[in-house]
Amino acid sequence: METIKQKYSAQQLMDMEARYGAHNYHPLPVVLSRGKGVYVWDVDGKRYYDFLSAYSAVNQGHGHPEIVKALQEQAETLALTSRAFYNDQLGRYEKYITEFFGYDKVLPMNTGAEGVETAIKLVRKWAYEKRGIQPYEANIIVAEGNFHGRTTTIISFSTDPEAKDGFGPYTPGFTAIPYNDLGALEKALEENPNTVAFLVEPIQGEAGVNVPDDGYLKGAKELCEKYNCLLIADEIQTGIARTGKILASEYDGIRPDVLILGKALSGGVYPISAVLADDDIMLVIKPGQHGSTFGGNPIAARVAVAALEVVRKENLADNAREMGELFREELKKKTAGNPFVKQIRGKGLLNAMVINDSPESETAWNICLKMAEKGLLAKPTHGNIIRFAPPLVINREQILEAVDIIAETLKEYAG
Ligand SMILES: *Cc1c(COP(=O)(O)O)cnc(C)c1O
Repeated sequence: METIKQKYSAQQLMDMEARYGAHNYHPLPVVLSRGKGVYVWDVDGKRYYDFLSAYSAVNQGHGHPEIVKALQEQAETLALTSRAFYNDQLGRYEKYITEFFGYDKVLPMNTGAEGVETAIKLVRKWAYEKRGIQPYEANIIVAEGNFHGRTTTIISFSTDPEAKDGFGPYTPGFTAIPYNDLGALEKALEENPNTVAFLVEPIQGEAGVNVPDDGYLKGAKELCEKYNCLLIADEIQTGIARTGKILASEYDGIRPDVLILGKALSGGVYPISAVLADDDIMLVIKPGQHGSTFGGNPIAARVAVAALEVVRKENLADNAREMGELFREELKKKTAGNPFVKQIRGKGLLNAMVINDSPESETAWNICLKMAEKGLLAKPTHGNIIRFAPPLVINREQILEAVDIIAETLKEYAG
């Protein structure tokens, strides 16, 4: 208990993590202790704009009162039963989320990676039971540059050496093709008749906010239909209003056969993920064939309903679209001619700035350090790309102030 109560400096807290924690992350040297809305505060009371939102888990803003209330009330009432018994929250949540997204069924899990694993198991079982694929020949197409999580199967089809190397042997059954390339997709579908699904992010978040051409997802869906394959959309980062629509898939007017959600499904207060699909797919999994001790627990059920209600009631998709346009427009204006700014891109409030330097350089990292000094937190992804993804509750005035901080930092950096 001594450790929990004692007051430590930021440096001591960072040293403690380095001394006692595994070194699987390299955080910016900022130690946060409080959050509210679009802001977080460090242990010394300094306030920052949060332009990462925990990788888009905190779309509804830090400490949203309605989400926190759901969490608190349910924790005090009933936290966990396991699925050995029914609980009085799960059914209500399942009805709510399936109506919200328009699918027959939901399978509740906890982390994003578990959601992706669930989708993979689901389409493989569908392949053997409904498509008549020989055991165990089912193949799934994925995109180069993908990020779907950190489990051994998922990193097996990663094309990022950092995520993959040193962790083999790898799970077979995946083919990687270039992202945003429908020709490559059709060729891969044609070449392997055992292909049963295409797993794809509507925008590649971790890869650096790679926005595909308009119509990419629509084309992919049409090709999947032609070859009797399922389109699995990983909307763990792009979903729940982040890109200016409830789902990024809506921009192309498509409905994925299998939809994976996570992150903002809880507003960041609890790990909650979900896989949605219709009966002909979802019902191939029978009792005992898949599950999770915590999946669909009463707290998660209550929290997810509250988190989605906030998105709907506060029109967060519309706000993300409008504030995103303002952000990109103002940032482009205020950084025009800056030699370090190569490109500003994004959709809604999932944005990135490509820094004009090699991915191995320290430039983006150093710019992020300087932005932190000025009160804005963002983090480089893939070396020279800085992602800008604030909570979706951000307003006009806050966007303009944040743009000033970013533009001012870049100006100083350019000297
Ligand atoms: C974050 C993320 C995941 C993995 O989610 P975890 O909760 O970290 O396991 C999977 N897919 C995408 C697109 C993500 O952004």
